[in-house]
Amino acid sequence: MTEEQLFRGIPKVDEILKHEAWRKLTAMYSEGMAKDILRDYLDEIRTSIKENRINSIPTLAEIIENTRKYVIETTSSRLKRVINGTGVIIHTNLGRSLLAKSAIEAIVNAASHFTNLEYDLQKGVRGERYNHCISILKRLTNAEDALVVNNNAGAVFLVLNTLAEGKEAVISRGELIEIGGSFRIPDVMKKSGAILKEVGTTNRTYKDDYEHAICEATGLIMKVHTSNYRIKGFVHETTSEELIALGKTYNLPTFYDAGSGLLFPLNGMGVRGEPCIAFELKKDWDIVSFSGDKLLGAPQAGIIVGKKSYINAMKKNPITRALRPDKFTLAALESTLILYLDEETARGEIPTLRMIHESQDVLKKRSQSIAKALRGLSTKLTVTHTSMFSEVGGGSLPDISIPSYGIAVLPHEIGLEIFEERLRHLDIPVIGRIEKGRLFIDMRTILKDDEPILISGIINAIQE
Ligand SMILES: *Cc1c(COP(=O)(O)O)cnc(C)c1O
Repeated sequence: MTEEQLFRGIPKVDEILKHEAWRKLTAMYSEGMAKDILRDYLDEIRTSIKENRINSIPTLAEIIENTRKYVIETTSSRLKRVINGTGVIIHTNLGRSLLAKSAIEAIVNAASHFTNLEYDLQKGVRGERYNHCISILKRLTNAEDALVVNNNAGAVFLVLNTLAEGKEAVISRGELIEIGGSFRIPDVMKKSGAILKEVGTTNRTYKDDYEHAICEATGLIMKVHTSNYRIKGFVHETTSEELIALGKTYNLPTFYDAGSGLLFPLNGMGVRGEPCIAFELKKDWDIVSFSGDKLLGAPQAGIIVGKKSYINAMKKNPITRALRPDKFTLAALESTLILYLDEETARGEIPTLRMIHESQDVLKKRSQSIAKALRGLSTKLTVTHTSMFSEVGGGSLPDISIPSYGIAVLPHEIGLEIFEERLRHLDIPVIGRIEKGRLFIDMRTILKDDEPILISGIINAIQE
């Protein structure tokens, strides 16, 4: 067909609007919006003709049907619930930590009602939005004072900007890390106005290296937990105690960016090497900062704990206002912290901790029953339960794998890549990983309540 014939084949808008299917569509959705979307679609057809990308025009019914699909796409949320079968517990791409039930209720409460966010109910005067979280943070970490900002990147920025703007912050070369998502310690330091004073080498930094670097211009001694990588072999790290002693000798503040925030050790799980906040403060760091949504299992937040005078200086920094968390974050954080008052409750109620602690036995039983259910529902797949390894993720504990259990699925009639793609396109997508010629689903990150959705999702993707 010639270009002209194609252009003439495009149905007139008037005709489309008179069609029965169009009336059905606009009975359910706003006509103005549907018309806008229709016009965009017709424009796209015209462009495709000009660029020689099509040589036939969709029928009138097809045009309305496609418009209907675009309308549904436009009006439905793109942020979707997914089933995490990757076994990575704090999965940055899948939203990091899930919240405990009480934290979710706190968010709903803060969203549905007025609250005393910045109102002192005792005195009947204006209050501080941070106060609700602060007393419990102090109790849990034995800190003199605390402050909460949007995330730990913001916390690091605020500490550096407040304590070391225009001054040198001394840090080991081995700790100039990138966390991912373009958060690089040297870049954040630069933006904060602190001058990076790197000392030592990638693998070995001694107390003397720090001491030689300290001069008039020094404003801060800093340590960063190298969350997402470990160096092994010929290494020497200056201890926290040595750095804190240097701070005292030279009257300089000391700051530790701990990354993940553990409030009690996860010993016995093979999970080692993550700093425990109270323990670090006890060593007498002036300031420690950590994330809310990593091992703490709370909402995204940056938590700063430490000496009152420094925290006060940060509260007065005007940039704090730009980093301040919203009421949902504060409500959920406070509720999560309350669970930490009892270790057993925290381990049982906070999904991140519960997933880390879930026993391999329990996971094996769940895997067996899911494999059995799938075999009963379809003959178009081979499914077995199998041992595998989970990861904590979120840039913590890079060298630790937790023995786990899950299922391995092999579809008979479609390729593994197609199967994996179909799982991603389900109404509730299922994300697994391809390994050894099978699709692996790790039960450690599957919520018990999501098991029926996982089963029907796999069956739909197989049968489609
Ligand atoms: C994760 C991490 C950050 C950034 O924390 P966010 O809460 O993701 O902003 C900063 N420092 C370290 C050491 C980290 O592990």
